[in-house]
Amino acid sequence: MKNPESSRLLILTSHLTAHKPASIMASEKEAALSAVPSDSPTIFDKIINKEIPAYVVYEDDKVLAFRDISPQAPTHILIIPKVKDGLTGISKAEEKHCEILGLLLYTAKLVAKQEGLETGFRLVINDGPDGCQSVYHLHIHLLGGRQMNWPPG
Ligand code: AMP
Repeated sequence: MKNPESSRLLILTSHLTAHKPASIMASEKEAALSAVPSDSPTIFDKIINKEIPAYVVYEDDKVLAFRDISPQAPTHILIIPKVKDGLTGISKAEEKHCEILGLLLYTAKLVAKQEGLETGFRLVINDGPDGCQSVYHLHIHLLGGRQMNWPPG
């Protein structure tokens, strides 16, 4: 006879890993740990300059928002400044960046509405190796379309 506790555990485990195979989760962490923090151009510059394609959902003269290539939720969008101005990550923010930082957050709200995330969403900024940052061009992750968990991994 099946143990009801182990069945419940199995269901819980499959629910927790439904969005990501363990190998993909590991490779994203590996990518972040092997990324070298630097102010050099990143893949996001290529997206801004339309050198590589992206699924853009919002664009104005200062901000670009596009779907993440490796979505962690039904809606997963990255919101970035078009001009990096030293903002490789949020830890490099200076007072001169306050306007663009506000614009990025406001754009996140606009895009969340545009995506129909009426019941909630999550904004994430990863910073540095411990924060699992892999692209050194400041970006806000907008995640939604499913119930989020807490604490994050
Ligand atoms: P982070 O790990 O916080 O630095 O996030 C970087 C994100 O950029 C990851 O979620 C990647 O999946 C995403 N990403 C990397 N390259 C691309 C790309 N070409 N188009 C869209 N998203 C990308």
